[in-house]
Amino acid sequence: MGLPVSQRFKPLDFYNQSLISGYQLLPFRFIRLDAKRYVLTNEVGEYVVLPQNLLQDFVHKLLVPNSIVYNQLKSKHFLLDADSSVALDLLALKYRTKSMQIANFTSLHMFVVTLRCDHSCPYCQVSRQSHDRTAYDMSAAYAHKALEFTFQSPALNIKIEFQGGEPLLNFDLIKEIVLAAKQKNLTHQKNLQFVIATNLSQINEEILQFCLEHDILISTSLDGSEDLHNANRPRPGMNSYQSTIQGIQRVRSVLGIDKVGALMTTTKASLPRVTEIIDEYIRQDFHSIFLRPLSPYGFAIKTKTYEAYTTLEWLEFYKKGLDYILQINKQGYQLVEDYTSIFLNKMLTPFGTSYVDLQSPAGIGISAIIFNHDGEVYASDESRMLAEMGDKTFRLGNLQTDTYEQMMLSDALLDPLEQSLCESSPMCQDCGFQAYCGSDPVYHHATQGDYVGHKAFSGFCKKNMEILRHIITLLEDDPEAKEILFSWVRN
Ligand code: SF4
Repeated sequence: MGLPVSQRFKPLDFYNQSLISGYQLLPFRFIRLDAKRYVLTNEVGEYVVLPQNLLQDFVHKLLVPNSIVYNQLKSKHFLLDADSSVALDLLALKYRTKSMQIANFTSLHMFVVTLRCDHSCPYCQVSRQSHDRTAYDMSAAYAHKALEFTFQSPALNIKIEFQGGEPLLNFDLIKEIVLAAKQKNLTHQKNLQFVIATNLSQINEEILQFCLEHDILISTSLDGSEDLHNANRPRPGMNSYQSTIQGIQRVRSVLGIDKVGALMTTTKASLPRVTEIIDEYIRQDFHSIFLRPLSPYGFAIKTKTYEAYTTLEWLEFYKKGLDYILQINKQGYQLVEDYTSIFLNKMLTPFGTSYVDLQSPAGIGISAIIFNHDGEVYASDESRMLAEMGDKTFRLGNLQTDTYEQMMLSDALLDPLEQSLCESSPMCQDCGFQAYCGSDPVYHHATQGDYVGHKAFSGFCKKNMEILRHIITLLEDDPEAKEILFSWVRN
């Protein structure tokens, strides 16, 4: 006799019986790894790789109890049997741990203290060459309002990052914000950290001493060897590469070697030169590198730099680079590729990530937020870049006119968060990589005109899927690479 239409589940006895006589499947997703194997993942990010025949045996409940694969699937919460008394509680606990960053709420607060800049990078979205301070510098009034906003976040860890333009062109305001933040923190008692994202052209002794006194970290840009860096980041009348390298050395000599990090951006000119770029990072004694593609925003689109290469070309660049980085590690120099490391942390630890683009719900606003020089508040750095192109979809409000509550509960934030959850997005909801991926409503809005995007045409999806396949293949098939990749797990 069939079940009544309104009864979605069979009677409890049916499930108890299946536990006594065999095992039950716990929720999982799967995706093809290659011609012969599948990756199975569950809600808490555990994964198992199985050949097709064993996957079929597993779902048809034909696995032999206590066989190697049975025990592996049981210990990673893919199946439940009569002995699994605490398995569901444990799974729930792991799920809560994995999602902890949502409860932690907004940690990263970016202050655009000026849009002025002394460089003219062709892919830059925001810089202004103007020396008109009033037009492009943040006012002290906005800075203090932004600080009030920052300290309303329930997050225990608060990072304040100064951005531009070139933020050191408005160093006086940076000083004022740091001192005021520390004063406020006497009451709030947060773990407060400061970062200045700078091209280092303006670094001087006064700035370094202030950074030393207040434990401020420096993040800079290094795109590769001299000619490549100078082509990507031209500075009228000056050698940008030389100024960056000298700046890095000065920062290290005063603040310490680990107080400065570098980021690179991949342009078309970078594509055939990934090993040279990595060699430059080693030459400068860095131990991590983030192989970053161009963002589809701002001047990158305007100048056609973004369309200058495809996702597939970038993936070739990434894979060649990762292969070279693994070789370097095998030779004894520890060098981490940061994007790979974020995925590895999601795959191999119980924790999620604070990296905005690999979260669900997306990290915009609730993980990171940005205060523009003119008091406008945006859900992410990319949202601000989009606004520079005239699209203010992700504008949450203005520091002068809107309250914290109005901005954090605005439709401009809640709509994209709600609509782009991986767990309910077409394709993502069934995807075997969902536990490691995330949602990026700003990217999909910029490239496809809606927050979700059609993943079959999404460069974000293609990139993450291919990288995850590549990482899992390395973990499965190359024991030496596996050992190195395990050493990149940071949590
Ligand atoms: S974006 Fe692509 S890789 Fe990521 S979860 Fe969605 S379908 Fe999977």
